[in-house]
Order: sequence, then structure tokens, then C-alpha cells
Amino acid sequence: MDFTLEPYSEEMLAAGKNLFAGKTAFVLGVAQLNQLPVTELNEIAFAGRSNVGKSSLINAVTGQKGLAKTSNTPGRTQQLNYFNTAGKILLVDLPGYGYAQAPQAMVKQWQKLILTYLQGRVNLKRVFVLIDARHGIKKVDEEIMDMLDKTAVTYQIVLTKTDKITDAAVERVMADTKAKIAKRPAAYVQVLATSSEKNIGIEEMRAEIASLV
Ligand code: GDP
Repeated sequence: MDFTLEPYSEEMLAAGKNLFAGKTAFVLGVAQLNQLPVTELNEIAFAGRSNVGKSSLINAVTGQKGLAKTSNTPGRTQQLNYFNTAGKILLVDLPGYGYAQAPQAMVKQWQKLILTYLQGRVNLKRVFVLIDARHGIKKVDEEIMDMLDKTAVTYQIVLTKTDKITDAAVERVMADTKAKIAKRPAAYVQVLATSSEKNIGIEEMRAEIASLV
């Protein structure tokens, strides 16, 4: 089932397929912002709560299983992982946020790292904010969206793990999500529904990324 607002053109889908036919390679992990790569390439970033399915989605989009580490120990990696796709665009895996057990100091540190990153990165064309389709937008997600609205970085909501709920439930969370972002200035209107497990919405994500190269 297709939950997107409008179908993607053949050209857009082909561009996405073509881009990710190329290899994606790990470039570097950035723990301090003075380590950010100097580059002329555009970049896009993936953000989301720990365990939202971010690693799985990056692996599905790039077609490379072991690229981003999937793990069941949320809140562990506190660095920005850079990947380069076909020498054409950089993908940035932001550290997962909102881990319930994370100490307040760690949350603060995360926010500072991300805010500084968002404010200073002119090549950053879009942030994909991943939302678990079972849960919808939560308070921690609202906080990151506040940050993105403030820094005027365009972001797009991507629902993950849609295979875990019924089509009707996906439609409900889709409608709820669109209502929640309607007044947010930097939010992209199109919301994507994906499943890394069932390969749903992955071609569309590739097309979106290809449009930003
Ligand atoms: P991350 O912490 O955001 O990087 O999340 P992971 O990619 O490591 O995924 C967290 C858990 O959710 C793992 O057990 C994955 O197998 C599972 N998962 C991720 N994506 C999907 C999906 O599309 N469908 C289903 N059913 N499970 C998923």
C-alpha cells in the first residue's frame, strides 16, 4: 500500500536507484565538531530516538546490510557517523536520542552537539526525522523538531517499522503526524512510510535523497 501524498515520478525513482547502485562507504565518526569534514558535497542526516530503526533504514536505503550497526544497546554511540554514497552525497547518522535511561548530562551533551552541528552546517540539505509508526511523535521528537525549526534546517518525517501495524493504523498515524507538523515552518509536508524489514518506502527515500545531490 502506498501512503505517500503523491506518487514519485519514474525519473525520480530511477535517479534514486541509480545513486544507490553506487557504493556507500563509511568515512569517519565525529565525536567533536572540530572534526567535521570539510567538503563541497551536500549532506543529509538521519535522526531519531534510540531503537527507532535508524541503522536498519540506512542499511536498507544503501543496500548494505552491515553498514550502520544495528544494536540493541540504545544510547551508546555518541558520535556522528559519516558515509559517502558514490562520491556524490554524504549521509550522516546522528546519535539516537531519547533513551529513557540516559543521564540528564548525556542528554544535554547530545543536544549541544546536535544544535552546534545544525547551526553550522551549510551543506546540510535535509534531516530525516525517524518516528516509530507504532508510537507516533513523542515529546523528545517535538524537542528535536523545535531545534530544527529554530535552525531552519528542512526536515522530513519518516515513519519506520510500518510492517508492525495494520494499514489502517499506518493511515491513522500518518494523518496524526501530518496534523502535528502542519504548523512547523521547517517541516517538509511529505511524510514517508517505511519498513526496512519489508522494503516499503525505501525506493521513495532513495528518490528523495537523489533529489538533494
Ligand atoms: P536504531 O537504534 O535506531 O539504529 O535501530 P535499529 O535499526 O538497530 O533497530 C532496532 C530494532 O528494531 C532491531 O531489533 C531491528 O531489527 C528492528 N527493526 C528495525 N527496522 C524494522 C522494520 O522495518 N520492521 C521491523 N519489524 N523491525 C525493525
